Amino acid sequence: MARRKTKNNKSASLLFILVLLISYLIYYVPKNSTSIEDINFNNINITNNNNTDNEEESTKSENELLSEIEYDNTTDTNTTKVNDLVPIKVHYIDVGQGDSIFIELPNNETMLIDAGDSSAKKTIIDTIKGYGIDTINYFVLTHPHADHIGSAASIVESFNIKSIYMPKVASNTKTFENLLNAINKKGLKIKEAKKGVNILDIDNLKIEILSPTKDKYTDLNNYSAVIKLTYKDTKFLFTGDAEAEVESELTDIDIDVLKVGHHGSDSSTTTDFLNKTTPSISIISVGKGNKYDHPKETTLNKLNKIGSKVYRTDELGTITVESNGKTIKVL
Ligand SMILES: [Zn+2]
Repeated sequence: MARRKTKNNKSASLLFILVLLISYLIYYVPKNSTSIEDINFNNINITNNNNTDNEEESTKSENELLSEIEYDNTTDTNTTKVNDLVPIKVHYIDVGQGDSIFIELPNNETMLIDAGDSSAKKTIIDTIKGYGIDTINYFVLTHPHADHIGSAASIVESFNIKSIYMPKVASNTKTFENLLNAINKKGLKIKEAKKGVNILDIDNLKIEILSPTKDKYTDLNNYSAVIKLTYKDTKFLFTGDAEAEVESELTDIDIDVLKVGHHGSDSSTTTDFLNKTTPSISIISVGKGNKYDHPKETTLNKLNKIGSKVYRTDELGTITVESNGKTIKVL
């Protein structure tokens, strides 16, 4: 009897393991293999290869969401003056895996580029409010991936927002839909982020959008608003998640400080691009132990090779770079 029981137990254990194995194959393997998700937009496929695997979908399509946006085509007229005694402060906020860069401008205005993922909400709001600021003059969302717009609806609700810039592309996620609702509720209108748009151009301070240059890209990352900020002799470049295709199109981008594209992924930061930009300082906004293995070793090696000093949010937390127009300091 005792032997029989052991045998039954063994069979039961084997059966249990078999069921577990089959369940694993059914539920997990297909999920992993579809983490590169093809979404249909304007009859082309946009490869959606970012933090969207687990994101809740909107009931509306990209085209439906995009058609609901009424773009504001007016340009900002700015009459503020630059105070030469006030340095520009660029805070690369540590939001884990994602981007959120808050800029205190020397004309007493502010700018926020991206809003991390949804878990970064409190960090971003507390950081900006901690600087004693409740107005964001220019809010730019580089592209609608969750690690860039995740906390954007909360930012819109929590701050006095003057202008909001986004590229003309949608994502059929609840995160994107909630953002549009928050923008509408505040009575704000989105300005299109595209090449040729100057966000600010006064005295020695200029903020230009260099990309997107086209209406359609095959990868959502390449819709990223690429922003160049010039203050007197110093230049900063913010690339969102723009990849090699966009980098190859950029011209006139000899800069001092680079926000490294796509969290240091090897899809960005080509050698050609580094030869054009020659940044003495490179900032990588990246989460500790992230599942994408960002930043890639190859990217770090390329940056080392050109002698660019690399600062990472996963190692240093929030990084602040200050410029008085002549010299740049990393705080
Ligand atoms: Zn990203």
